[in-house]
Amino acid sequence: TTPWTLPANLGIAVNPNFEYAAMENGDEVYIIARELAESVAQKCGIGEPRIIATFPGSRLDRLEARHAWLDRPSLLMLGEHVTLGGEADAETELDVKEARDKSATAKGAGTGCVHTAPGHGHDDFVIGGRYGLDIYCPVDSSGRFAPDVEHFASERVFDANPKIVEFLKASGALLFSEEYRHRYPHCWRCKNPVIFRATPQWFISLDARGRETPTELDEDGRVRTNFTDNETDAPMSLREGALREVERVEWVPAWGAERMRNMLKNRPDWCVSRQRVWGVPIPVFYCADCGVEVADPQVIDHVAGIFERESADAWYAREAKDLLPENFACPNCKGAEFTKETDILDVWFDSGSSSIAVLEHYAELRWPADMYLEGGDQYRGWFNSSLMVGLAAHDAAPYKTVLTHGWVVDGQGKAMHKSAGNAVSPNDVIKQSGAEILRLWCASSDYHEDMRCSEEILQRVADGYRKLRNTARFALGNLDGFAPARDSVPTEEMQEIDRWALAELDAVTERVIAGYDAYEFHTVYHALYNFCTVTLSARYFDIIKDRLYTAAPKSHARRSAQTALYRIADALARLLAPILVFTADEIWENLPSSEGEGTNERPVSVHLAEFPAVAGALDKELLKSWADLFEIRELVLRKLEAARNQKIIGSSLEAHVKIAALGKTYELLEQHRQELPTVFIVSQVSLSQVHTAEDSSPSPINVSVLVERAKGKKCERCWKYSEHTVELPRYGGAVVCERCAAVLAEMEGDAA
Ligand SMILES: [Zn+2]
Ligand SMILES: [Zn+2]
Ligand SMILES: [Zn+2]
Repeated sequence: TTPWTLPANLGIAVNPNFEYAAMENGDEVYIIARELAESVAQKCGIGEPRIIATFPGSRLDRLEARHAWLDRPSLLMLGEHVTLGGEADAETELDVKEARDKSATAKGAGTGCVHTAPGHGHDDFVIGGRYGLDIYCPVDSSGRFAPDVEHFASERVFDANPKIVEFLKASGALLFSEEYRHRYPHCWRCKNPVIFRATPQWFISLDARGRETPTELDEDGRVRTNFTDNETDAPMSLREGALREVERVEWVPAWGAERMRNMLKNRPDWCVSRQRVWGVPIPVFYCADCGVEVADPQVIDHVAGIFERESADAWYAREAKDLLPENFACPNCKGAEFTKETDILDVWFDSGSSSIAVLEHYAELRWPADMYLEGGDQYRGWFNSSLMVGLAAHDAAPYKTVLTHGWVVDGQGKAMHKSAGNAVSPNDVIKQSGAEILRLWCASSDYHEDMRCSEEILQRVADGYRKLRNTARFALGNLDGFAPARDSVPTEEMQEIDRWALAELDAVTERVIAGYDAYEFHTVYHALYNFCTVTLSARYFDIIKDRLYTAAPKSHARRSAQTALYRIADALARLLAPILVFTADEIWENLPSSEGEGTNERPVSVHLAEFPAVAGALDKELLKSWADLFEIRELVLRKLEAARNQKIIGSSLEAHVKIAALGKTYELLEQHRQELPTVFIVSQVSLSQVHTAEDSSPSPINVSVLVERAKGKKCERCWKYSEHTVELPRYGGAVVCERCAAVLAEMEGDAA
């Protein structure tokens, strides 16, 4: 034990479940835990212990001992916190539970009888309260004993430690002393050791059932609390109300509810007073005559009115009488002189009331908030204090949704430290790569867990950014000469692959909006990234390039593709806007507009536009057909690659692909016979049906692919091979395919 707490001793705790022994030594008998008798006897130089009786600790309950040197009783009490380790004194440990666990395993350091001073430590306070002991704390706020402490009056407690040991030795009360190392709490700031002292504080009870505070709506529809008219009985305590609200709030991630519930079930009353020179005051007065405290709702309301006009500093600027209602008299003795409470409110009370201070004082805001967003350390902090204040003011949580996120860690998942050299400064990222990259990193990381960040990860994000941006660039770059209102092709008249691209856009739009709705920003990013890299870049753009570059500029074929590109770019800008705020606006500004057509004007900024609407029922059948076609395409692309390696062909346009297919696969390919060369990016495709009894679904397994050199000559315009090329004398005898010849004629017609 720490000797300086001995003058405050009021009791001795024993464990009711341990066996205790009466050990004889000369004409004295010591009571000690049976298990420790030998080691204590040895340490005290008694030799072999003579045990004259054993009994359970519970037999000692409420017996009285005498204080070691003061003429005062010390009550024997039963406490499960007593261990055989002797290190469980709460006043010497920050983490009581950890200390107990350690103590329970490290046997042999004590006696099984624990000195108890209810004024100096948590366990002692609790057991003292249970046995009705005074919360006696004879140490003042400067760490000195009170003047009436015998032998050690006004001594600093740390200076008194060795003197108390000497004093006990001299009086024969000390059998043995030893020093041992243990953890001890220190001030985080000045590193001085601290002491535990029970002092009067203000608490908000979690379990008292107070009276309900009626609320009403003011003329703006904002909630106003009527503190002066509270007559009805509230059915619930703060704890019960808080637990009820936990079920009403949406927690993201969902385990937040469980964390909040557990915290609320176990938390002690809220100590709201702090001993600081400045802060938000506790608006309580004390009668100068009889000492009774005045914590009256009407008085508090009066003080609140003054604070509203003059700020809380009025508490320090005004005298007590100038803070009280006129002619206020002590309800106990009718006295008229008062002093002010000097404690301030816990700052968590300040932040806990922010919902009321903010949401109820701006016309455009409403209480409760849609969402509170913070790190996972705020369940006990801000979410908790806000809930308490919200319940007190409006009997409801001040938030509809609470979202928590993990911490930023390095690429290996380790905490970032400047000294470890693994810290990534947001400012450096912004300087190096721009704020868009940082935002995209944020959105692409799953914040439910700790979020990894490193040079390498940011590089990957920058690559991802470039792909998103290039996708938009490709779309915009091919919209030259396209006036949406004039040139758009109605969906039902578009080429099938263009309709497929729009169906895919609908699908990704649905996923993205659902992702935003659920605050799943990483799924938003991954959906858009996959759409841009796989659906568009590797498939759709690859296939329509030929049409965009070689079809006549105003042809239906090109307008069909442009219509799809226009809608894709428009939707990408809107869907990316919350994350890539500048890039999205840049896309928006570069979308072609329909000059001279005042109808359906776009907002000037994408941030004034809405998310794209999903353009009707998703064409699931179309998506399925093309999913199968793309599966076959993958197989064809692999065969083309092999043929290139075998020098059968150079570019894929030099290929003639022969496909033999079964049943439904054949039917699917047959339906798209015209588009197959474009889809595979080859010059010729021939298709044949394989007949078997067995019918099967379309799958690459049911096709065989053969790659040969394309027949005919290479068209100088589109580089495809054709057996029907023509020489055009008016283009210097250029050799072109029949398709290009028609396109050129069409373009000449347009120009004429
Ligand atoms: Zn300090
Ligand atoms: Zn009074
Ligand atoms: Zn051609």
